[in-house]
Amino acid sequence: METYTGSCLCGDVAFRVVGALAPIQVCHCRQCRKAQGSAFAANTPVREEALLFERGRDLIREFESSAGKWRAFCSQCGSPVYSRHVDAPGVFRIRVGLLNEPLDVRPESHAFVASKADWWRIDDHLPRFEGARSSSSPVNTEAQNRPARACLDAAVPQLPTGDIETSADFFVTRLGFQVIGKFPEHGHLIVRRDDAELHFWRAESEQQARRIASASSCYLRVRHIEALFDALQALGAPFRFPLTRQPWGMHEMQVDDPYGNAIRFGEPLD
Ligand SMILES: [Zn+2]
Ligand SMILES: [Zn+2]
Repeated sequence: METYTGSCLCGDVAFRVVGALAPIQVCHCRQCRKAQGSAFAANTPVREEALLFERGRDLIREFESSAGKWRAFCSQCGSPVYSRHVDAPGVFRIRVGLLNEPLDVRPESHAFVASKADWWRIDDHLPRFEGARSSSSPVNTEAQNRPARACLDAAVPQLPTGDIETSADFFVTRLGFQVIGKFPEHGHLIVRRDDAELHFWRAESEQQARRIASASSCYLRVRHIEALFDALQALGAPFRFPLTRQPWGMHEMQVDDPYGNAIRFGEPLD
């Protein structure tokens, strides 16, 4: 079963969440902004029996921010840990920023957008609620029409490899990806960096992988490509060409992987 670990900033409060996570709920209410010192709180509700404290439960203090609503934080470092409400017994709304592993859930909605920080722009298409998530229908019409409208999500390139370990090692050490799944028995590898996921299938031979890879490529869109360029340079990524301002209005760079798959990164020039 999936298990996630989490801790506060000082590390003295640590816990484990057992089982799949619920989608992340983003709350822009004034209380959450104050409690996080930020634009919003990002929470996932966890059932009491799935939340195991490993240490520091005695360090947690709870503050009743409104009648029946308790916000818990580490008394040493101040990290918000969870909130709970007497109306939802046995549910802890864990602050997802405390979790250590890459998550396979994403935000599903924005609550209390009526009291959102004016300096924060919401630029996704998730349902937005003026107040609590459950109390009304979303205020953005796009989201209201959503169930009827098919919508493509991220595209995942499937690239050939001659050897799962070689590709895994290259993408981790040279390009800063993480291995999300490695299935040598099925000849399959999944790596991810931020929201970009790449899949690899093992060809019949290294030779065949090279032949196919030399004729295929994938394009990854990037935000802040200069920072990525610096990071990849520090990792010793073998650039086919470094960061280049292209005449077609893109800032691009390219790395070829060990089998010759062209991995091109790009961001529009402004
Ligand atoms: Zn702490
Ligand atoms: Zn809130």
